[in-house]
Amino acid sequence: MIAESILVRGRHVLTSATPAVVDDGAVLVVGESIADVGPYDELRAAHPDAGALGGPYDIVTPGFVNTHGHFSEGLLAGIGEQYTLGEWIHGLINPIAPHLTRAMAYVATMLSGIQMLRSGITTANDMFVCEPRPEPVTPAVVTALDELGLRGVVSFGAGDLRSAGEVAPQLAEHEALREAAAASRLCTFRVGIGAVGGQSDKLFAASADLAVRGGHGVHIHLHEVREEVTATRQRFGVTPIAHCAREGLFTAPTLAAHCVWADRADRDLLARHRVGVAHNPVANMILASGAAPVAELRALGVDVGIGVDGAASNDSQDMLQAVKATALLARVHHLQATAMTAREAFEMATIGGARALRMAATVGSLEPGKAADLVVFDGSSPALANVHDPYEAVVYVAGSREVKDVLVAGRPSVADGDVVTVDVADLVARSRPLARELVTRAGLSHLSELAR
Ligand SMILES: [Zn+2]
Repeated sequence: MIAESILVRGRHVLTSATPAVVDDGAVLVVGESIADVGPYDELRAAHPDAGALGGPYDIVTPGFVNTHGHFSEGLLAGIGEQYTLGEWIHGLINPIAPHLTRAMAYVATMLSGIQMLRSGITTANDMFVCEPRPEPVTPAVVTALDELGLRGVVSFGAGDLRSAGEVAPQLAEHEALREAAAASRLCTFRVGIGAVGGQSDKLFAASADLAVRGGHGVHIHLHEVREEVTATRQRFGVTPIAHCAREGLFTAPTLAAHCVWADRADRDLLARHRVGVAHNPVANMILASGAAPVAELRALGVDVGIGVDGAASNDSQDMLQAVKATALLARVHHLQATAMTAREAFEMATIGGARALRMAATVGSLEPGKAADLVVFDGSSPALANVHDPYEAVVYVAGSREVKDVLVAGRPSVADGDVVTVDVADLVARSRPLARELVTRAGLSHLSELAR
């Protein structure tokens, strides 16, 4: 059987590779992969039978790589805005964690995943934070992502100090998720560590061992707030980043979320150990955590990607908002209009995130041989009627409304602005009683009109 081919056309094709822009260009997709990128007229003449997507005024980009999020918060958007991180963990996340069921995990992942796809995300690096149960919860994340057609890097945010629990059930949840990912079409597994402060010495050592010996990557929060750094210094005498380096965790490919409060020595350690960083500007602003030293990290050669973070701390799941906020926060932080260009933010959201996740061989740019993960922005939308600069158009002007088509591994996940595999109205209706049940069981009805 000959693999089906599609020619995806755009006025501007932004590749995040070389050449960076192909005007009046196209991407030839054959099966799951990109076969060619070049001038539309030449590719169309050479492939007259290929299907057609995009058009002469559209903008074609690589799919966005969302480097940090929590599908476990998919039922908790728009709640508890008054909290800073420590209060938010104790007042919201810890009470919720024991009550998340597999059914909730599936629906929460669907809700967040639909928003991600509609905003152009094709790869989501997730950490599901819950208490282990006899029936593992996290495999439902994999089920949902495969159904949605959203590439996932999935992890369980283990933490035995959340509820003074045991180590064995935490490791069993990792194992159940690893098995589900191994059997999936689009997911790969990482070892999740909620945070250094959330784990006993025993669990931390077992997690590092699981990652290093199993050949898995690691997904962890590091230096999100100053209090986290202070507490770990008091416990171990060093910062969380130095502790991870000392204990050998960074021997495994590690993606660290936030790194807002990383000082010069910490930043040097991240660079030396090739730790990728997920920058989450919207969540960092909502929780008043601070502005991450993105420029300093990038100057050291650290791969920095962009994350939307979870629905309980962003609270939207929209990558275009996060990309715009990345450029805006840099400008406000440095009080310079040149602090970050739209092109830099765009490249962080695509190839930068892929490098931070050590996935640049397969995703993050439009190049022959890579996975056909791409986005078509609608050039007939009023917002994109007049494109003076395609990077500024995508980063500052476009919203989810302009995301017309999304391919993941060559298959349409979004067509004409909507997800193709899910009955959205049915899913939304099914989510309401689950969200009400979750908030009520967690004793958080005082925060929710839905549960009153
Ligand atoms: Zn997080």
